[in-house]
Amino acid sequence: MAKKNEQEEEQLWQTVPPVEFSVVIGNREQQQALEILARQAPGYSVAGGQIAHALSVRANHILMDFTQAFVAMRYQIDGNWEQLPNLPRDAGDAMLYSLKQVCGLNPADRRSAQQGKCATKVKKAKYFITVQSQGTANGERVLVRLEPEKTPFETLTDLGMRDRMKEQYKQALDSTGGMVLVSAPKGTGLTTSWQVTLEAADRLMRDFQSVEHDARREPETINVSSNYYGAADGPSAAELIRSMILKEPDVFVLPEIPDGDSLATILKQVTANDKHLITRTVAGDAVEAIVSLIAKYSNSAKEIASSVTAVLNQRLARRLCENCRQPFQPTPQLLQQLGIPQGRVAVLYQPFVPPPIEQQVDEKGNPAPITPCHVCGGRSYLGRVGIFELLQPGPKFRAALLKTRDVNKLRQVARAEGHRGLQSEAILTVARGITSLEELKRVFASK
Ligand SMILES: [Zn+2]
Repeated sequence: MAKKNEQEEEQLWQTVPPVEFSVVIGNREQQQALEILARQAPGYSVAGGQIAHALSVRANHILMDFTQAFVAMRYQIDGNWEQLPNLPRDAGDAMLYSLKQVCGLNPADRRSAQQGKCATKVKKAKYFITVQSQGTANGERVLVRLEPEKTPFETLTDLGMRDRMKEQYKQALDSTGGMVLVSAPKGTGLTTSWQVTLEAADRLMRDFQSVEHDARREPETINVSSNYYGAADGPSAAELIRSMILKEPDVFVLPEIPDGDSLATILKQVTANDKHLITRTVAGDAVEAIVSLIAKYSNSAKEIASSVTAVLNQRLARRLCENCRQPFQPTPQLLQQLGIPQGRVAVLYQPFVPPPIEQQVDEKGNPAPITPCHVCGGRSYLGRVGIFELLQPGPKFRAALLKTRDVNKLRQVARAEGHRGLQSEAILTVARGITSLEELKRVFASK
């Protein structure tokens, strides 16, 4: 019986042409030998098909839970986990054997924690595939990460920042004698915002010098020189910064603040010598970010409050598919709830949700299933958009920063000085038809 079903139902890995794998460990000769060996295994085309399928629907993670009867499969697409049909154990085992093989792992070992890497190409785009496996009580759990070699976001506009904010942000980045703080909650693209921030800053005419811990080196950015502290035979943070100051860089780039004294030394350069500082922190919104920085480095509170020119915060939401999003006329009550002035927005958009299958019929009442949207594959969303908050402190906010750490009070002060908070920026994204209210609820609920 089971056999018959398998034959009837085409599995996902069979629906697309499989990718080829390249081995990345060892020398060229060893790589070629392993590639030839791997191609002979029965699971090679299963693994190639599964990875090809995942990439074709833009998944960036695959989670496989091997149990006695089957393999439970999930994809993560645009930050959202999706359940797939289970894979039969025989196909799943063969696939995993090949995946482990091309990643240089021991395919026979189903218990130990293993991690390895390989690569593949789709059209001309290269992807790295990381495979992490670990035995569980019922079988084995495997997480596959798919990462494009080139990051898909390159500019603030690509990330979804609106034009007016982009101008203001660039101005803050390109001025002198101030501090720019980049923030986001944990796991919501802080690294991306950070890289795009550095890309957006004018680095042609100014000397950018970064201060990085040797064990946590950042990806390289053109025209940002890296300096490392904390290595066994290298300088301490204080020594490094002292020697950097002698070279008079224009902009200090700190992906993390080494310690309070280092920050104080650099802030002195900012306030007294018109140098610039760009740094980052994990925080739920812009006000929280600056308050937590001041709380942590209270000795430098005055300098932080006087020099901060911009605090960026960011959330990621899924973009509505432009092909199948559904316009609707918002009621006056809804507009009021959202704080959108009457007459400003004629339509909002929501995801297309097909009616229940029994209602998908033609005029005669015969079943007529709706074909899923060919652009988004029926997911209603395609890609992600950054929702940005840009806090540019005014005089009242700076003064208040030194008097209170009550974030709600400080948010009020900021609003009174014309600041638009994260929620209201998010609603602008909905008003622009980029995402839906449903999606915002999801994003802000899972803080
Ligand atoms: Zn669509």
